[in-house]
Amino acid sequence: MDSSSPIFEELGSEGTLPGINEGEIIVIRSTRRKKNISAYRQGGRIVVSIPARMSKADERAMVPEMVAKIRAQEAAITMSQTGLAERIDELLVELAPEIKLRPASVSWRAMRERWGSCTGVDRTIRISDRLKGAPKYALDYVLFHEAIHLEYFDHGVEFKELLARFPKAELASAYLDGYEAAETALAAPEVLKKLLAAQ
Ligand SMILES: [Zn+2]
Repeated sequence: MDSSSPIFEELGSEGTLPGINEGEIIVIRSTRRKKNISAYRQGGRIVVSIPARMSKADERAMVPEMVAKIRAQEAAITMSQTGLAERIDELLVELAPEIKLRPASVSWRAMRERWGSCTGVDRTIRISDRLKGAPKYALDYVLFHEAIHLEYFDHGVEFKELLARFPKAELASAYLDGYEAAETALAAPEVLKKLLAAQ
Protein backbone atom coordinates (compact mmCIF):
# COMPACT_ATOMS: atom_id res chain seq x y z
CA MET A 1 0.00 0.00 0.00
CA ASP A 2 1.11 3.53 -0.74
CA SER A 3 2.58 4.98 2.43
CA SER A 4 1.03 8.37 1.72
CA SER A 5 -2.52 7.04 1.78
CA PRO A 6 -4.49 8.13 4.84
CA ILE A 7 -5.33 5.66 7.55
CA PHE A 8 -9.06 5.36 7.99
CA GLU A 9 -9.16 4.30 11.57
CA GLU A 10 -12.73 5.23 12.10
CA LEU A 11 -15.04 5.71 9.19
CA GLY A 12 -17.13 8.41 10.73
CA SER A 13 -19.97 6.30 12.05
CA GLU A 14 -20.66 9.28 14.29
CA GLY A 15 -19.59 11.61 11.53
CA THR A 16 -22.71 13.68 11.08
CA LEU A 17 -22.95 15.98 14.02
CA PRO A 18 -26.18 17.33 15.41
CA GLY A 19 -26.86 20.78 14.06
CA ILE A 20 -25.15 20.15 10.75
CA ASN A 21 -27.60 18.81 8.26
CA GLU A 22 -26.72 20.44 4.96
CA GLY A 23 -25.12 17.65 3.02
CA GLU A 24 -23.02 14.94 4.54
CA ILE A 25 -20.14 15.49 6.93
CA ILE A 26 -17.63 12.70 7.41
CA VAL A 27 -15.14 12.79 10.25
CA ILE A 28 -12.02 10.70 9.89
CA ARG A 29 -9.76 10.05 12.86
CA SER A 30 -6.26 9.67 11.53
CA THR A 31 -3.37 8.21 13.52
CA ARG A 32 -1.03 9.98 11.10
CA ARG A 33 -2.28 13.34 12.26
CA LYS A 34 -0.68 14.49 15.47
CA LYS A 35 -2.30 17.85 15.94
CA ASN A 36 -3.58 19.17 12.65
CA ILE A 37 -7.16 19.20 11.70
CA SER A 38 -8.06 19.55 8.05
CA ALA A 39 -11.19 19.61 5.95
CA TYR A 40 -11.88 19.19 2.28
CA ARG A 41 -14.73 18.69 -0.12
CA GLN A 42 -15.21 15.20 -1.54
CA GLY A 43 -18.02 15.22 -4.06
CA GLY A 44 -21.26 15.94 -2.23
CA ARG A 45 -19.74 15.75 1.22
CA ILE A 46 -17.20 17.47 3.41
CA VAL A 47 -14.54 15.30 4.99
CA VAL A 48 -12.90 16.50 8.19
CA SER A 49 -9.72 14.74 9.23
CA ILE A 50 -8.83 15.01 12.90
CA PRO A 51 -6.08 13.50 15.06
CA ALA A 52 -6.98 10.06 16.40
CA ARG A 53 -6.60 11.23 19.98
CA MET A 54 -8.79 14.32 19.80
CA SER A 55 -11.46 14.29 22.50
CA LYS A 56 -15.14 14.13 21.57
CA ALA A 57 -15.65 17.57 23.13
CA ASP A 58 -12.93 19.09 20.95
CA GLU A 59 -14.36 17.30 17.94
CA ARG A 60 -17.80 18.77 18.58
CA ALA A 61 -16.29 22.23 18.93
CA MET A 62 -13.90 22.15 15.98
CA VAL A 63 -15.64 20.18 13.26
CA PRO A 64 -18.45 22.72 12.72
CA GLU A 65 -15.81 25.46 12.51
CA MET A 66 -13.94 23.59 9.78
CA VAL A 67 -17.16 22.90 7.90
CA ALA A 68 -18.10 26.58 8.08
CA LYS A 69 -14.67 27.51 6.74
CA ILE A 70 -15.06 25.20 3.73
CA ARG A 71 -18.53 26.56 3.00
CA ALA A 72 -17.30 30.14 3.21
CA GLN A 73 -14.44 29.37 0.80
CA GLU A 74 -16.89 27.78 -1.61
CA ALA A 75 -19.31 30.69 -1.40
CA ALA A 76 -16.46 33.06 -2.23
CA ILE A 77 -15.57 31.25 -5.44
CA THR A 78 -19.04 30.20 -6.52
CA MET A 79 -20.60 32.06 -9.37
CA SER A 80 -24.09 33.37 -8.67
CA GLN A 81 -27.01 32.07 -10.70
CA THR A 82 -27.22 35.44 -12.42
CA GLY A 83 -23.54 35.06 -13.17
CA LEU A 84 -24.21 31.70 -14.82
CA ALA A 85 -26.90 33.19 -17.07
CA GLU A 86 -24.59 36.07 -18.02
CA ARG A 87 -21.80 33.64 -18.83
CA ILE A 88 -24.13 31.59 -21.08
CA ASP A 89 -25.00 34.79 -22.94
CA GLU A 90 -21.30 35.63 -23.40
CA LEU A 91 -20.49 32.11 -24.64
CA LEU A 92 -23.34 32.12 -27.14
CA VAL A 93 -22.45 35.57 -28.48
CA GLU A 94 -18.82 34.54 -28.85
CA LEU A 95 -19.10 30.94 -30.08
CA ALA A 96 -22.60 30.44 -31.48
CA PRO A 97 -24.11 33.82 -32.43
CA GLU A 98 -26.73 32.09 -34.59
CA ILE A 99 -28.42 30.86 -31.41
CA LYS A 100 -30.67 33.71 -30.32
CA LEU A 101 -32.57 31.82 -27.64
CA ARG A 102 -31.65 32.45 -24.02
CA PRO A 103 -32.53 30.38 -20.96
CA ALA A 104 -35.52 31.54 -18.90
CA SER A 105 -33.66 30.43 -15.78
CA VAL A 106 -30.28 29.01 -14.83
CA SER A 107 -29.73 27.43 -11.43
CA TRP A 108 -27.32 25.34 -9.41
CA ARG A 109 -28.66 21.91 -8.51
CA ALA A 110 -27.41 19.04 -6.37
CA MET A 111 -26.94 16.53 -9.18
CA ARG A 112 -24.57 13.61 -8.82
CA GLU A 113 -25.37 11.79 -12.04
CA ARG A 114 -25.21 14.63 -14.54
CA TRP A 115 -23.20 17.81 -15.08
CA GLY A 116 -26.12 19.80 -16.34
CA SER A 117 -29.53 19.64 -17.91
CA CYS A 118 -31.61 21.76 -20.23
CA THR A 119 -35.37 21.51 -20.44
CA GLY A 120 -36.40 22.72 -23.86
CA VAL A 121 -40.07 23.36 -23.11
CA ASP A 122 -39.51 26.03 -20.46
CA ARG A 123 -35.85 26.81 -21.34
CA THR A 124 -34.62 25.90 -17.89
CA ILE A 125 -30.93 25.11 -17.42
CA ARG A 126 -29.63 23.40 -14.31
CA ILE A 127 -25.97 23.02 -13.49
CA SER A 128 -24.57 20.43 -11.08
CA ASP A 129 -23.22 21.98 -7.91
CA ARG A 130 -20.21 19.66 -8.28
CA LEU A 131 -18.98 22.35 -10.69
CA LYS A 132 -18.82 24.98 -7.97
CA GLY A 133 -15.15 25.79 -7.77
CA ALA A 134 -14.34 23.94 -11.01
CA PRO A 135 -11.84 25.51 -13.42
CA LYS A 136 -13.49 28.14 -15.59
CA TYR A 137 -13.03 26.16 -18.82
CA ALA A 138 -14.85 23.13 -17.34
CA LEU A 139 -17.82 25.17 -16.14
CA ASP A 140 -17.89 27.08 -19.44
CA TYR A 141 -17.91 23.80 -21.36
CA VAL A 142 -20.97 22.52 -19.48
CA LEU A 143 -22.72 25.90 -19.76
CA PHE A 144 -22.07 25.99 -23.50
CA HIS A 145 -23.24 22.37 -23.91
CA GLU A 146 -26.54 23.08 -22.16
CA ALA A 147 -26.97 26.39 -24.00
CA ILE A 148 -26.75 24.60 -27.36
CA HIS A 149 -29.59 22.36 -26.17
CA LEU A 150 -31.84 25.45 -26.22
CA GLU A 151 -31.73 25.09 -30.00
CA TYR A 152 -30.94 21.38 -30.47
CA PHE A 153 -32.46 18.87 -28.07
CA ASP A 154 -30.37 15.85 -29.03
CA HIS A 155 -26.66 15.31 -29.57
CA GLY A 156 -26.96 15.18 -33.36
CA VAL A 157 -24.60 16.47 -36.03
CA GLU A 158 -25.59 20.14 -35.66
CA PHE A 159 -25.19 19.93 -31.90
CA LYS A 160 -21.73 18.40 -32.19
CA GLU A 161 -20.59 20.92 -34.78
CA LEU A 162 -21.50 23.78 -32.48
CA LEU A 163 -19.98 22.16 -29.41
CA ALA A 164 -16.72 21.59 -31.34
CA ARG A 165 -16.29 25.38 -31.46
CA PHE A 166 -15.49 25.36 -27.76
CA PRO A 167 -11.71 25.90 -27.68
CA LYS A 168 -10.80 23.77 -24.66
CA ALA A 169 -13.29 20.94 -25.20
CA GLU A 170 -10.71 18.19 -24.80
CA LEU A 171 -9.25 19.64 -21.63
CA ALA A 172 -12.72 20.18 -20.18
CA SER A 173 -13.81 16.61 -20.97
CA ALA A 174 -10.65 15.32 -19.35
CA TYR A 175 -11.38 17.34 -16.20
CA LEU A 176 -14.97 16.09 -16.01
CA ASP A 177 -13.98 12.46 -16.66
CA GLY A 178 -11.18 12.72 -14.11
CA TYR A 179 -13.55 14.19 -11.52
CA GLU A 180 -16.00 11.33 -12.02
CA ALA A 181 -13.24 8.73 -11.83
CA ALA A 182 -11.93 10.26 -8.60
CA GLU A 183 -15.42 10.47 -7.16
CA THR A 184 -15.95 6.78 -7.86
CA ALA A 185 -12.60 5.88 -6.33
CA LEU A 186 -13.16 8.05 -3.27
CA ALA A 187 -16.57 6.48 -2.74
CA ALA A 188 -14.70 3.47 -1.35
CA PRO A 189 -15.11 4.40 2.36
CA GLU A 190 -18.88 4.62 1.78
CA VAL A 191 -18.86 1.13 0.25
CA LEU A 192 -16.78 -0.09 3.15
CA LYS A 193 -19.26 1.39 5.63
CA LYS A 194 -22.11 -0.49 3.95
CA LEU A 195 -20.13 -3.70 4.11
CA LEU A 196 -19.41 -3.17 7.79
CA ALA A 197 -23.03 -2.32 8.51
CA ALA A 198 -24.16 -5.48 6.75
CA GLN A 199 -22.09 -7.68 9.07
ZN1 LIG B 1 -26.45 17.13 -23.68
